[in-house]
Amino acid sequence: MARKSRRSYVVGVDLGGTKILTALINKKGEIVAQAKQATEAEMGPERVIARIAESVERVLRRADVVPERVLAIGVGAPGPLNPETGVILNAPNLPGWVDMPLAERLRDKTGLPVFVENDVNAGTYGEFKLGAGRDVSDLVGIFVGTGIGGGLILGGQLRSGFRHVAAEVGHMIIVADGPRCGCGACGCLEAVASRTAITRDLVAAIKAGRTSILTELAGDKLDDLTSGVLAEAVQRGDALTLEMLGWAQHYLGLAVASIVNLIDPEMVILGGGVVEALGEYFLAPVRETAFANLIAKHDLQRVKIVAAKLGDQAGVLGAAMLAVARVGKRK
Ligand SMILES: [Zn+2]
Repeated sequence: MARKSRRSYVVGVDLGGTKILTALINKKGEIVAQAKQATEAEMGPERVIARIAESVERVLRRADVVPERVLAIGVGAPGPLNPETGVILNAPNLPGWVDMPLAERLRDKTGLPVFVENDVNAGTYGEFKLGAGRDVSDLVGIFVGTGIGGGLILGGQLRSGFRHVAAEVGHMIIVADGPRCGCGACGCLEAVASRTAITRDLVAAIKAGRTSILTELAGDKLDDLTSGVLAEAVQRGDALTLEMLGWAQHYLGLAVASIVNLIDPEMVILGGGVVEALGEYFLAPVRETAFANLIAKHDLQRVKIVAAKLGDQAGVLGAAMLAVARVGKRK
């Protein structure tokens, strides 16, 4: 028993297509050391897994913690994947990752138990355990970036469906026969409300002759607008940016209404760069559209539609907290 109590740290890893974030987390859920490095995905899976193992060693060294004091490693990774086996089925952003047994490979390299979960599910779980959703047990997370991802917590448990592909909020079809989505379908939320979609519509409008301060703010990077540039255009009252963001807010509001009508969660958390950069300014119209389209209007003030709190750290924290929950079950 004494031996078990010595394992008072957990490692969280957020494996992305361009960067790997790694954090050592103590019992209180605080990050005591972290590392960030390029994924070098083009070098193939073996190299990437070696880099993850190196980054785990690095955070342990930085905090002067020996591996014997670490309970487990939790990895948030792009999917689809199987969290029960820790196998990544395929990952479009990671060339060569097909049926890759990530948990087993990383366990062999580190000697520690490894648990793998979908990155957005991990981020949602992080917000649930340590962020905006700490006080509720049913919530939906929606993360708006170049794509739109989602996660679902019911009864205090992450729910991912029997094939582990639930909560694909970004691929709810919101506009019948709307713009083509990256997934191949038409009119998905991601195709009308992601940063990619907002940028696509802004660029098209500017090319069609509309004026915007974005041509000045973004220069030759008009095709790849950052959340920061969009936020600055909003702060300077750029009419075109406000109009296109308005459409994204409208569609997100409709999606939130459908989710609440279906599940009735206590909370919907919105995160990602655009939401973080604009905060309540972005959220208020989303909430208004959502409330206007709810079927049950009583106790509306109890349905919380709020901003995420953990930013970039939601993924590492959530992956770590899931590993803590799962290592307990396995024993
Ligand atoms: Zn789609």
